[in-house]
Amino acid sequence: MSMSARLKLRRRRRTKIVATVGPASSDPEMLSRLFHAGADVFRLNFSHGTHADHLERIRIIRSLEEKTGRPIGILADVQGPKLRVGRFAGGRVHLQNGQSFRLDLNPTPGNARRVNLPHPEIIAAASLGSTLLLDDGKLRLRVVRKRDDAVETEVVVGGPLSDRKGVNVPDVVLPIPALTPKDRQDLAFAIEQGVSYLGLSFVQRPEDIVEARALTGDRAWIMAKLEKPQALENLDAILRLTDAVMVARGDLGVELPPEEVPLAQKRIVRAARAQGKPVVVATQMLESMIGSPAPTRAEASDVATAVFDGADAVMLSAETAAGQFPFEAVNMMDRIVARVEQDPGWRAIINANRPEPEHSSADAISAAARQVAHTIGAQAIVAFTETGATGLRIARERPECPVIGMTVQLTTAQRLAVVWGVHALVSGPVQSMTDAVHKASRAALTEGFARRGEEIVVAAGVPFGHSGSTNALRVASVR
Ligand code: PGA
Ligand code: MN
Repeated sequence: MSMSARLKLRRRRRTKIVATVGPASSDPEMLSRLFHAGADVFRLNFSHGTHADHLERIRIIRSLEEKTGRPIGILADVQGPKLRVGRFAGGRVHLQNGQSFRLDLNPTPGNARRVNLPHPEIIAAASLGSTLLLDDGKLRLRVVRKRDDAVETEVVVGGPLSDRKGVNVPDVVLPIPALTPKDRQDLAFAIEQGVSYLGLSFVQRPEDIVEARALTGDRAWIMAKLEKPQALENLDAILRLTDAVMVARGDLGVELPPEEVPLAQKRIVRAARAQGKPVVVATQMLESMIGSPAPTRAEASDVATAVFDGADAVMLSAETAAGQFPFEAVNMMDRIVARVEQDPGWRAIINANRPEPEHSSADAISAAARQVAHTIGAQAIVAFTETGATGLRIARERPECPVIGMTVQLTTAQRLAVVWGVHALVSGPVQSMTDAVHKASRAALTEGFARRGEEIVVAAGVPFGHSGSTNALRVASVR
């Protein structure tokens, strides 16, 4: 590929973009347009579509990757224990404020007095006074009586209710595993296809991550979706076990009052950055672009806020999966992110929120790499990374110059697609520090990060070929 074609594929921003694939974005041409417009990671939503649909999309994304020579991350997002009511005799009912309404284990179609809730554990776990939210929180019920096979509720906020609408139970730790049988099948399929990350929905406890890890091992990164208040209570413990997190504001905003969501976002991003775990801010970022070619001012501001928070990535959902303007949405997100990152005030905020290095040689080298690059005005920090860990620790420093993540593993390069500021490259095995400096210098040159005579900083773990700690730092002139 020519130099100018390669340069076009270099992102002009640090914060990454995740775009959800759906009916509006499944053909090769649209996926290619979204990638060129700025999508670094594609998200497959396993709440919709068949394995055959997802397989076809994965195939197209991988051929796009081969054609462009740029690693692309794929996030397989599994549905998790999403609770739903059953069906109604007439398809829908209307619940009035103050009326009583029963949720029970009876599978026959419902009516305006009752409906099936096919989850005995939830009926058992609900207590008097518990709140049940229906249809993304539009309807609100309060439990007034409990039986073994049903809960009687009072309708606090009524409205229309139709077949299979979602149920959220914010004040109860659901006594159910994080992975349903469908999730297990979807995970096995996704791992088989070599996806980069597995999105786990409705994570509540650290044990949920342990359970998923037993299935996945290190074949993909686990991305815990934080969308239950209970997950926030266990935030640090969940972060220690997971590889990445998502601030899943859709369901989180149903389970928490709206005024809590911005604070939860800031708290999650800060905690994830402290541990150096990639964090994605998701849902309704450019929501109005589902039907309009331009966002609202508030949406532009929302994307900017996530960039100021220092999130690794921002995400588009229905905007790219089902909207009328998928390309425009990615393009707009790219423009907003790039514009914010040119602002000196943004850099000052990122620097002010930089976490202290932890007590390890990898963090000492990472902090030093950022400092050295800053002092000499280096064009790039080149990190040699087997598993991606060194790339992550350097990204945690949020350095001013780009980070080139060099790895022999294509899977590592694909995973690094979601990480703040990292431009990942696959390269052959490195023999020595001299060889590393040579390869780093060539990469910085051919990828257009530096010109001859300019300086780069190289970070690596010596001896090469063992995955171990980063322990070496070199300054080099590009030749
Ligand atoms: P979902 O997750 O789109 O799979 O529900 C994201 C969210 O809840 O924000
Ligand atoms: Mn969700």
